[in-house]
Order: sequence, then C-alpha cells, then structure tokens
Amino acid sequence: MADTMKAAVWRGQKDLSIEQVPIPQPGPGEVRLKVKVCGICGSDLHEYNEGPFLIPRRPHPLTGRQGGPLVVGHEFSAEIDSLGPEAEGWQPGDRVTVNCLLYCGVCAYCQRGQYNMCLKLGTVAFASDGAFAEFLCVPAYTLLKLPDAVTDDMGAFAEPLAVAVRVVKRTRLELGHSVAVIGAGPIGLLVMQVALAAGASRVFVVEPMAARREMALKLGAALAIDPTAEDAGKAIAAATGNMRADRAFDCVGIQASFDTAVKCTGRRAVICVAGMALKPVEVRFLSLWGHEKEITFSTGYEDEFPAALALLADGRVDVESLISDRIKLDDLLSAGYEPLMNQPDQHLKILVYPE
Ligand SMILES: [Zn+2]
Ligand SMILES: [Zn+2]
Repeated sequence: MADTMKAAVWRGQKDLSIEQVPIPQPGPGEVRLKVKVCGICGSDLHEYNEGPFLIPRRPHPLTGRQGGPLVVGHEFSAEIDSLGPEAEGWQPGDRVTVNCLLYCGVCAYCQRGQYNMCLKLGTVAFASDGAFAEFLCVPAYTLLKLPDAVTDDMGAFAEPLAVAVRVVKRTRLELGHSVAVIGAGPIGLLVMQVALAAGASRVFVVEPMAARREMALKLGAALAIDPTAEDAGKAIAAATGNMRADRAFDCVGIQASFDTAVKCTGRRAVICVAGMALKPVEVRFLSLWGHEKEITFSTGYEDEFPAALALLADGRVDVESLISDRIKLDDLLSAGYEPLMNQPDQHLKILVYPE
C-alpha cells in the first residue's frame, strides 16, 4: 500500500486544498477506515467561509488538535481497513458509519450518558481528521454497523439524520401533532420526514426557494409556504382552523426564522431551534408568555444513530431525493462547495467520492 493518500485539508478561511498527506496509523483503541462516500454539510461551508467555529481555536483537550491543517468531512460511510491495538469487536471489511462525538467518558455529564454535553466534547472532522480523504482513523467507540439495506450513499446521511431525529425528540412531539418546519435545506427536509415518521399529522414547510418548496411537497409536506409572498403564520392558521402548529422547528437560526416559528405555532407549542444561531436573536417574551410556548434547542446528537439507521433501512426517510450531485474529491471546491454556496436553489446534498 502507498504511504500517502489524497485529502481535503483546511488551513483557515477560504483555504482548503486537495493534497497528498500521510495515510494515518490507528492508535490504541482506534480503527482505520477506508472512506466510501462523504456528504458536504452546511457546517463545512461555515468553516470554509468564516471558520473556525467548530474547529478548536485552542489545543483540544481530547485530541490536542487546534485549527489547521485539518482534514474535514464528517457525513460519511466507510469500510474498516485495519484495527489499532486494543480495538476489538470489529473486522476489516465491516461497513460502518461514525457517531462523530468525541467525549471523555469520565466527566459528570458523560457519567449521566449526556455525551453531547461532555465538558471536553469534540467532534470527528473538527477536533480530529475527517473523511474528505481516502482514509481516516477514529476511536472504535464511535462506530456503528450499517444495516445491509443501507447503501454506502444512504449511510452518508446517518449523521445529518441523527441530527434531525434529535431535533424532533427535543420537542416531545406526539402522535397527531401538526408541525411547522422553517427552512427546507437538507436538515429541514430530514426533520419534516422524521416528524411524519414520528406521527405528526401534517407538516407545513416555510421556505423562500421554490425548488426546495417543491421538494418538501414531494417528501410529504401538506403545504409549502413562500414567506416572501405570504404571511406564514396566517397561511398555517387558515389551514388549521386557527390552531396553527403544535411544534415548530427553526432549521435556520436567524431572527426572521425564529419570528416565523413563533407566528406559525399555536398555544402551548414547543419551538426547537436547530439552526446554529451565529448572531444574537431577540425573543419577545410577551409573544410566548400568554400562550405558554416553550423554546428548546438541539445540538448535534447523542444516541440517535440507531434510530436514524432504522429510518434509512426501512425507507421511511427518503435521502436519495436530496442528492443533487455526486463528485470526485479532486473537485470538492469547484463542483461541491461553490455550487452549494452560489446555486443553493439547485442543490441540497452533494456526495463526494475519494476515488
Ligand atoms: Zn453535518
Ligand atoms: Zn465527558
């Protein structure tokens, strides 16, 4: 085997290049994975344009990694290539995906099983090298076996789907609830499908881009509202006999999307903010107080991967429709990042193949 491989290396804002780097060696408790396919995430674009956000600015307490150079890419499926010392229970050739949480296992939150609250929390591809590469090494505890019914391409959606499952769970959605999803990007389109799988009666999607509204309707939305053309709150009120939605998912995380989520919901509603809110958002208590609305947040995932894999395996969540292109790692910037940034109305998820 050659001793170098191709990888996408992030070094700072607007500084990402495809390079030959050494093939990583698995340390104790680690496995080396051969990457099959890796999706491009909105957070990859954030890190490229304005990062570091999730990439640590100081040496990470678990991995020691800080800033670049860093191999990015965290939504992937892979095959086990080799096992490091003390990595047991897996065989070369096993098809896997990875729960990207890196946690200490000993802090008070880890002891409660609240791993995404770990005091030393890190994530694969931000605090360690990721999967826009031919190989990567991860701790064996992060691995999940892909069911036979989950193809490699579908497996690349396990991570964002785990995010979506948690978003829905955070609102304690009940059978028969009506739901508003603000923002029909990849996460919003997964959230709406998870909500339907969880028993939502009807899903209303609010999204300015026509192509994304069409996709939402194709995937089962009862109504897709253009907030630049009509008042989303009134449209949902009209469709629900003035009840509005029982649950709202803000999959954008800006003032306008949060205000829309408040308007789209009825009394005793729960609003979950799933989008990473990079700027301050003003909350008018009076718009929530009288109706006893709740606001909650969802960050990443904890134990949602088995549910995500089950939803992929039995086809209740359609991810194939979200794939807008398939590209080679060599073309990551020109055929991946750039179209996602410049033609978002033509793209949802672009899958990247290392070879
Ligand atoms: Zn992601
Ligand atoms: Zn911990």
